[in-house]
Amino acid sequence: MRTAATPEELRREIAALPSPLVLVPTMGALHQGHLDLMHRAREIAGPQGTVAASIFVNPIQFDRAGDLAAYPQPLEQDLEKCRAAGVDLVFTPAADRMYFPDRSITIIENLLSRHLCGATRPGHFDGVCTVVMKLFNLFRPDAAVFGEKDYQQLAIICRMVRDLDVPVEIVGYPTVREPDGLAMSSRNARLAPDHRADAPRIRRALEGARSLLPLGERSAVPFLAAARKHLEESPFLKVDYLELVDAETLQPVARIQKPAVLATAAFYGEVRLIDNILLLP
Ligand code: AMP
Repeated sequence: MRTAATPEELRREIAALPSPLVLVPTMGALHQGHLDLMHRAREIAGPQGTVAASIFVNPIQFDRAGDLAAYPQPLEQDLEKCRAAGVDLVFTPAADRMYFPDRSITIIENLLSRHLCGATRPGHFDGVCTVVMKLFNLFRPDAAVFGEKDYQQLAIICRMVRDLDVPVEIVGYPTVREPDGLAMSSRNARLAPDHRADAPRIRRALEGARSLLPLGERSAVPFLAAARKHLEESPFLKVDYLELVDAETLQPVARIQKPAVLATAAFYGEVRLIDNILLLP
């Protein structure tokens, strides 16, 4: 496995690697969800192609300094996991090699980021778009794999690629879960034991709401009410948001007439977890 720590090194390494190149961008602290994305990347790249990953805790997408400071960065273990997953090239830049101190250009998303995480994390998706665009320009991948756990991120990156004619295929990958249903996340390790034990309720709340679909329910209100009730029965959890949005535009819907996504973010203490579920009419 090759590694590169600067954009210059990365360009040199890429020149020597066979195409197609499939990229998996991450912030490290790798878990099985990330590794499944890497295996999917290998399926797309084929045995002769290149699977590349980036490990970069992108400072400009964090809206809370404490969250950035607490973000785990076990680089050696991450590199070992990439090696075991058959990744060919890992890019691990320091922040000062990614951003010029006087940088003045940012990608701004104006519609899909209005709700969900975008509403409570100002500037977050502009930071995500900017770093992902930089990674696309650095790697020039044929395809890139993103998890559906971060549904809004995936939708916004598809929109960015469409609107800016970026020559890359975006591939979504289903959320990988712990056996008890909790979506895998680098933040799960920071949960206190009683919070960890309670956290599968997030998934159960969304699934409970979805069970209204086969009963013929289509109005948003009962879906939101059912999920909120289950979330708020927790003695620990604080709902950050719970919204039902159109699966493509991410704007709130009053009725489910097209594919919709019920999405939530919840705090356990300082730890913020997200999850979502697709609702098909
Ligand atoms: P992160 O390191 O959190 O920025 O995530 C890197 C990539 O892994 C993103 O495309 C995430 O959506 C994806 N990812 C993170 N957790 C999961 C999961 N539990 N299942 C599937 N994909 C995930």
